[in-house]
Amino acid sequence: MTASNRYADFYRRSIDQRDEFWAEQAELIEWQTPPQQVCDASNPPFARWFVGGRTNLCHNAVDRHARDHASRRALIWVSTETGQEKVYSFAELQAEVERMAAIMLAQGVQRGDRVLVYMPMIPEAAFAMLACARIGAIHSVVFGGFASVSLAQRIDDAAPKLIVSADAGSRSGKVVPYKHLLDEAIKLATHKPARVLMVNRGLAEMSRVDGRDLDYAAERERHLNERVPCAWLESNEVSYTLYTSGTTGRPKGVQRDVGGYAVALAASMKHIFCAKPGETYFSTSDIGWVVGHSYIIYGPLLAGMATVMYEGLPTRPDAGIWWQLVEKYKVSVMFSAPTAVRVLKKSDPAFLAKYDLSSLQALFLAGEPLDEPTARWISEGIGRPIIDNYWQTETGWPILTVANGVESAKSKFGSPGKAMYGFDMKLVDENTGEDIAGAHQKGLLAIAHPLPPGCLQTVWGDDERFVKTYWTSIPGRQLYSTFDWGVRDEEGYYFILGRSDDVINVAGHRLGTREIEESLSSHPNVAEVAVVGVADQLKGQVAMAFVVLKDPTKAATPEEALRHEGEIIKRVDEQLGAVARPARVRFVTVLPKTRSGKLLRRALQAVCEGRDPGDLSTIEDPTALAQVKALFA
Ligand code: ATP
Ligand code: MG
Repeated sequence: MTASNRYADFYRRSIDQRDEFWAEQAELIEWQTPPQQVCDASNPPFARWFVGGRTNLCHNAVDRHARDHASRRALIWVSTETGQEKVYSFAELQAEVERMAAIMLAQGVQRGDRVLVYMPMIPEAAFAMLACARIGAIHSVVFGGFASVSLAQRIDDAAPKLIVSADAGSRSGKVVPYKHLLDEAIKLATHKPARVLMVNRGLAEMSRVDGRDLDYAAERERHLNERVPCAWLESNEVSYTLYTSGTTGRPKGVQRDVGGYAVALAASMKHIFCAKPGETYFSTSDIGWVVGHSYIIYGPLLAGMATVMYEGLPTRPDAGIWWQLVEKYKVSVMFSAPTAVRVLKKSDPAFLAKYDLSSLQALFLAGEPLDEPTARWISEGIGRPIIDNYWQTETGWPILTVANGVESAKSKFGSPGKAMYGFDMKLVDENTGEDIAGAHQKGLLAIAHPLPPGCLQTVWGDDERFVKTYWTSIPGRQLYSTFDWGVRDEEGYYFILGRSDDVINVAGHRLGTREIEESLSSHPNVAEVAVVGVADQLKGQVAMAFVVLKDPTKAATPEEALRHEGEIIKRVDEQLGAVARPARVRFVTVLPKTRSGKLLRRALQAVCEGRDPGDLSTIEDPTALAQVKALFA
């Protein structure tokens, strides 16, 4: 059998013999009671996986490894912000999780109750998540970078009994106090948590609300030797809720199950990441995002790997820090985002070659389109394979990538890869809903019911929003829409062309903003670029480009800027044709992004059209939009 047949067969079996396929994958985790039914798809678009099975995420991520390999490394915490480094074995991790679970139980947290985690990247955040999983409480992690208003919205949505937080985070050596933001958020929120558990890192002053606020160190001491057994949860009980990035509007609260998620992650560790127990996984994400949930906390630990939890920037103390950690901890799998690589790209590439990276099997990148120059730069710089992978908060694990654990698959630059097993991928015409059969034809990426294990069960507290948002937008068919555009080549590799609401229509031609961005970024002085469609009386829409230059001094004078603009636009003429040519290229020093690093094109577009930019609660740097506003004033 040839390599590519091997994956094709594997994939086909996952769709055609779905239950048999997933029953096999379910053996990657331990069950207290085995499932009675693999998939209940009788109530579309909902699906229930491993019905009747009883298991526990914490048991599978921690206890079973502590039982079999107590002293093996589990959690490696590195903070270049505070200069701390600490390694926990599986046995030590289990003890900490049990203490945290004991504190939660003592505060009246019960199975099904929500616990909101608003934390910097410290071990206690992992303990809190795993403790929730252990006792069957539902965690709702809110990214530590959010301020009061965003936090208040999420407190009201989750209605937590307990909030776990810390005095402060730290970014670029500057202390970012959390407590007053949290107090303010609780004041703003309608729902009031009964208890707030505060980890005191000694970084910032904290005021204390009597009867509500608890000190973690004191509570930990009180419950030091307590044992808390894992609650055996039915597979379809809720493990957590987590918000999408809010790139296209109000964030959606993704709700995840227990058994399906555990199986999906365990399978992905084997087939996609080629994980080996005892090795080390390093994801540079944050626990506030889905990558942090799946591939800092649960995935690596489920696979019996050590996971690196890193607090700090990729460029401090210098741009070699990640690679230094890879060498030191013999990291075998690494996961990051193109946006982070583009940050590194501004530094000397010599940092990439300074350390011994021989342990590293591959660097996985996800979250936004990986442009070819960035992919080449990092792949040549570290001399290791780069694997793009495409997915969403909703799916919990990759939809498109290459399954190196099944065949030694080759990546193609510009493509995140093929449909992963379990995802019954459709590429459809958005007007007719029909499948696109031919290669290189644009369509919407959609997934047929049922979504595979690990994907969202529903939108938290809002089944109607789940059905309406995801399952009703494709004409004539009940398919899950990803809201992303793509094409497929003859070999089944997909290429993402951008979000469906980022498509622009210039004089009747439908263009993905992504294609235009890709073309503009091929200019050597372009560091970052965003293209949006702006209403135009004549053409319906025109493309407007915002560019961050690598070397802004080259466009310092108006004449130079104009010449630069012309040169950059020429790339589009040459590569895509004049129809795709942006009406203007504007130079800015920073682009508006969500805190997870995604371009906020909708906000850019609104400002260009003089409209209200809408929900900006997830924006990273508000001055980015101010710059654009100034251009249009
Ligand atoms: P919201 O749904 O709230 O608007 P969001 O879609 O940005 O926010 P996420 O779930 O964090 O929230 O991001 C998923 C999206 O990110 C995908 O739908 C896709 O648009 C983009 N994306 C993720 N990975 C890739 C990739 N490898 N290549 C291209 N795009 C990607
Ligand atoms: Mg989305």
